[in-house]
Amino acid sequence: MTAMRAMVLERPRTPLVLRERSVPAPGAGELVIAVSACGVCRTDLHVVDGELEHPKLPIVPGHEIVGRVAAVGQGVSGFTVGERVGVPWLGATCGVCPYCREGAENLCDAPVFTGYTRDGGFATHAVADARYCFPLGEDGDDAEIAPWLCAGLIGWRSLRLAGESETIGLYGFGAAAHILAQVLRWQGRRVMAFTRTGDTRAQDFARSLGADWAGDSDDIPPEPLDAAIIFAPVGALVPAALKAVRKGGRVVCGGIHMSDIPSFPYSILWEERQLRSVANLTREDAREFLALAPKAGVQCAVTRYPLAKANEALADLRHGRLEGAAVLVP
Ligand SMILES: [Zn+2]
Ligand SMILES: [Zn+2]
Repeated sequence: MTAMRAMVLERPRTPLVLRERSVPAPGAGELVIAVSACGVCRTDLHVVDGELEHPKLPIVPGHEIVGRVAAVGQGVSGFTVGERVGVPWLGATCGVCPYCREGAENLCDAPVFTGYTRDGGFATHAVADARYCFPLGEDGDDAEIAPWLCAGLIGWRSLRLAGESETIGLYGFGAAAHILAQVLRWQGRRVMAFTRTGDTRAQDFARSLGADWAGDSDDIPPEPLDAAIIFAPVGALVPAALKAVRKGGRVVCGGIHMSDIPSFPYSILWEERQLRSVANLTREDAREFLALAPKAGVQCAVTRYPLAKANEALADLRHGRLEGAAVLVP
């Protein structure tokens, strides 16, 4: 059996370490994928930092996987060796809990998450449940497509929950927002981008992708927002966004983890403003977004890192030293 390399988290709050293993054989229903690119998501930082409880340990992080099918397990249909596929955060669901039966598999009671409760894509090879893998076709560069698998999908789900709004505020202009801004522009909606105070580089970047306005996160935008989506893991943005949305407007929290939300006066929630979170994704979200992104001409700005530099990529993401998305290329 051939060898593979993986960047492994052995304990939270310690650096990933490079390990060699043999490539596993696919179990029934599984694909073995030769990884060609894996995006680095803020959720990977939350796993590494121990902010998400009970990861499988040791764990290979990474849930924005683009690769080619290297082996097909028993009972898998619809995939062939050599085909390009993507693997997202949603690794598997139970199919029988009330949420799965109601079409809300993103809330499954017994889910499996790629790079959290099963090994992910910070590696040369990954194993995935074929039912949760997506064909990606041959158009586009592997590394530039990788961020679609989480930043793109979560952004898309967040937008669906934000509703048919005309003017949308995006708080935190990282990987997810830079993709979503392009989708919004393509849809003909208005985008207001909010960044860390004084981050003029990110604000210029947002305007270059079609934002109608860009400013600091505590600014009041030039027009009231119909909805706001918060991608930065900063609880203080919740009252800031509530103040910026119109009567009846929605604030959607797109992240899996956020610092505590400071208390705020009821008056900023009053007048039927709504606040909600987005959890995970459904396969339907993925199918919709993966079909739409090429039509919208979504182009990801990526910074590539060799696999062995995964810790550097995580540090650059943590400190906001990136424009767009970090992607590991084994
Ligand atoms: Zn379930
Ligand atoms: Zn993610």
